[in-house]
This record gives sequence, structure tokens and C-alpha cells, in this order.
Amino acid sequence: MYILRTAPTWLFQSEVAALDETIKGVLESILNVHLDETQWCQAALPVRHGGLGIRRCRELGVVAFLASAHGTLGLVARILSNNGDITQVPFASEALAKWTTFYGGGDQPENPIVQRGWDDMLCKKTVANMLEGAVGSNLARLKAASRVESGAWLHALPSPSLGTLLDNDSLRIAVALRLGCKVCEAHRCVCGVMVEEDGHHGLSCLKCAGRFSRHHAINDAIRRALVSANVPCVLEPPGLCRTDGKRPDGLTLVPWQKGRCLLWDATCVSTFAPSHLNLTVRSAGSAAEYAAKMKHAKYSALEPMYDFVPVAVETAGPWALEAKEFIRDLGRRLRDKGCDPRSGSYLVQQISLAIQRGNAAGVMGTFEPGTIRDGFI
Ligand SMILES: [Zn+2]
Repeated sequence: MYILRTAPTWLFQSEVAALDETIKGVLESILNVHLDETQWCQAALPVRHGGLGIRRCRELGVVAFLASAHGTLGLVARILSNNGDITQVPFASEALAKWTTFYGGGDQPENPIVQRGWDDMLCKKTVANMLEGAVGSNLARLKAASRVESGAWLHALPSPSLGTLLDNDSLRIAVALRLGCKVCEAHRCVCGVMVEEDGHHGLSCLKCAGRFSRHHAINDAIRRALVSANVPCVLEPPGLCRTDGKRPDGLTLVPWQKGRCLLWDATCVSTFAPSHLNLTVRSAGSAAEYAAKMKHAKYSALEPMYDFVPVAVETAGPWALEAKEFIRDLGRRLRDKGCDPRSGSYLVQQISLAIQRGNAAGVMGTFEPGTIRDGFI
């Protein structure tokens, strides 16, 4: 970072390209995923823009230098006892010219001393270019990836003792799904349907394992967070059946707000299922919103007595608005009870990890018994 901020690295294109190629090679080795140019371009975006946060020096060099040049100009002028208008940081104007060719215009961020300002402009441009050329599930994937919550698992500290370490297969599948890489060879699922290389069938196949463990993991994360916030609760509360005999996932045993107890039900729907794709190509999270609406309809008989919240999420990561608000509220209550100020973020990460583990289990569940060890979770 020091070199990128202080040296005109864009003048050394082949060296920078070699360095980027090395980073890409290491990334491919660690993940066991092959990246083509478009996928590498997405991977190199920050997590908040839908990437993996493994940056490329090619773009970062220019924005880092520009921010540094603007930030140090005042100090350089003072040291040289010069008027700031006259003093020039060497290579600053060349960096600006390079920026114009990269960005495709002369616009500059509001606060040019902040690197993120330059970086965000460039990243938004890259995302817009990728969206322009994408259709179908690729378009849905890119839209979903740029939602903040869908990358939460990438921010989790990978720790076996905290349960936040993804095993190699889950990490590989999670990254491949995020970047649209090849997940597996095309094969026939246990249900008889063909699974394409993108592995998407495994995310919505009713015969595949994964859905149950994911459902359980999401509910358990919510239950433990409620307990930490001093809100006693039960999973699958007895005596609260819908007309079809199914029970909601959880109930708080003390009022949540306005004297009403909270009732929640979690669901994870596939962003790429053919029945959802017409929604998810239009706007990220719309399959989750639709699932939330269906949950409200299912539990309408219980709504007069309880505060019902559907915790609806999608396999590609986006959450429905109500789920986000509920988890944000829960995070705030954890902080109020003296828990770690980052408790809310940790809870989001846990749910995000549960989604990714469920995806991996879904994909691995498409293989015939005997081709894979039993009990993959
Ligand atoms: Zn299947």
C-alpha cells in the first residue's frame, strides 16, 4: 500500500500486471476455483461492490496515488514554504490523466484526499459495465452480490472455535457461486434433473440436503442472540399451529414490542430458481421479499396476537427488508445489554455463513450416494 500510494506504478505496466497475475494465481490455488478475466475483475472489487476484496494493483495504484497526492499537497507546500497553487506533487497530473482514461471522464470525488472516494467511483463504473453485458442468472447474481449483506460471510473471522471457518468445499462453492465460476461438472442430480456447471439446481432441489441444516443454523443463531439479549424464547412453539398443522420457527416468551411477543419464521429461497429468476433479474432481494409476503399470508391467523417477522433470505445472499430490520433491532438490543458493540454484525455474519454452508450442502447433495461421503454439511 505504501508503494501504491507513493509511486507512479502505472508507468510500470508489465511489472504491475505480473504482480496482479501472481495474486490471481495464489487466489485460484487457495480457492481451487478457475477465474476467467470477467470473474477476476469481479473478484478484485471490494466486498461492498460484490467482489472478494482481493484488489488489483492495476486500478488501485492510480486511486491510491491520487488520494495520497491530494492529501500531502498542503504539507509539501508548507515544507517548501510555497503557495499551494504553485507546488505540485510529482506525477500528480499524470495520475489524473490516467484516471480520466480509466474512469472515462474527468469527474472527481467530492473529497479527493479520501482513497475510497476515487475507488468507489471506479468500482461503480466497473459494476455498471458488468451489469450492462449480463443477462439471466448472471444478471441476478451480480445484482445480488452488490447487496451489502450478501458479502457478510467474507468479513467473518475464519475461526474454528467460533464456528466461522468454512471448510474448503464450502468456501470453493460460495466463491464460485458469487463470481459465477464453474461449480461442478454437469451431471444428473439424485432427483433426475441435469445439474449444469453453475450448480444452481442444487440450491433449489427439494431432494437435496442442505436446506434443513441451513434452516436450523439460521434459527439457532437467532435463538442464541435473543437469549444473549435476555429475551427468553423457544423454537417451534407448541400450540401455535397454522391450519395445515405447521408451526412457526420461534417465539419469544416475553413481549418484544408494544406488549406483543415476537413470532418468527425463517426461509431461504434460491435466487436462481426458474420460478424466481424473473423477479431477481429485475431487483436484488425480490425473491426474498416475495417469500416474506407468502409467509405473512401463511401466518395471517396468528398476526392479530403476535408480532410476526418472516426472516426471508436468498441463496445468493440478499435478505428481505423485514429480516434486516429485525436483525438490526436485535443487534441494538445486544449492544444495550452490554454485549460486544459488533454483536449485530457478528449475527449477520453467522446467518450469512449459514446460507453459504447450506448452498454448499445443496450442491454436494446433488451427487449420487456413493460418489460422496455421507453426512456432508
Ligand atoms: Zn435435484
